[in-house]
Amino acid sequence: MGIIDDRLAVIEPLSKFWYQKKVAAMDMLRLDLLHPVISGNKWFKLRLNMKYAQEHGFKTIVTSGGGFSNHLIATAYTARKFGITSVGIVRGKYDRLTPTLEACKAEGMELIFVSKEEYKDRHELNWEKEFVQHFDEILFVPEGGANEMGRAGAALLNRYINDSYTHIAVAVGSSTTMIGVRNSTLVHQIVLGFAPMKDGAYLNGYISNHVHQDKNVNWRLTDKYHFGGFGKWNKKLLDFMNNFYTENKMPLDIIYTSKMMYGVHDMLMNNEFSVGDKILCIHSGGLQGNVSVQRELIY
Ligand SMILES: *Cc1c(COP(=O)(O)O)cnc(C)c1O
Repeated sequence: MGIIDDRLAVIEPLSKFWYQKKVAAMDMLRLDLLHPVISGNKWFKLRLNMKYAQEHGFKTIVTSGGGFSNHLIATAYTARKFGITSVGIVRGKYDRLTPTLEACKAEGMELIFVSKEEYKDRHELNWEKEFVQHFDEILFVPEGGANEMGRAGAALLNRYINDSYTHIAVAVGSSTTMIGVRNSTLVHQIVLGFAPMKDGAYLNGYISNHVHQDKNVNWRLTDKYHFGGFGKWNKKLLDFMNNFYTENKMPLDIIYTSKMMYGVHDMLMNNEFSVGDKILCIHSGGLQGNVSVQRELIY
């Protein structure tokens, strides 16, 4: 499993000027430092899946995602390192491949394009079967790494999270990372999820069903900071990212972590935390997705 050194992820304090001492401490877990391609939390969600595939002799990993999916490229890269063939079932047809899909191809991933209608059925049992009949010994990993091994892998993030934090902030896509973190931290530690899409609240039921029963408290999901929807952004968000970089010397990504930190900041300014709180924000990576806005960023 030695393709990534877990020690590269470190905890760094945010600037007191940035959080204006409204809480006792605010730190960032820099999962973005783990690897330039395998975006932070993706490695944690994939690692037990890959180990399982290797130990049980699976030759092919099949997964799915959209054209900008960090999970797809992370799977392509990781599978190659593990010597496993990877196949990505991609939502929608493309006249030109996105940079993410180009990168997947370069890592040897076989891409299979399905219509948005076909993709809608992805949660059905054996959905992937008809698309991948020509491959053998397949382990199917759902979109976002959202399976039991994905959640158990994300739970390993607790190795970085000490007991003194009162709150843990995490960006949410499939919510697999948030669920893993909720399951593996102390019950009184409050886990705050920030969904970057409109109507992210639909995930509440899913999270509730997948956290351990005794941990189904002290977690909250907000979709208030979506900036128009998944992948959408405006000048205010870009300004926030540039400011955040100036004050903390940490880059954020445009899809997930910028909206999370914007939300955390807004909550701070609305005095939604107490002065004694200690907050850990999880930087889940995704920086390679900034290519589309690179010219607007100072980093
Ligand atoms: C995928 C991703 C997430 C979302 O993780 P989930 O486990 O799917 O909720 C958050 N941040 C970044 C940078 C990501 O790439």
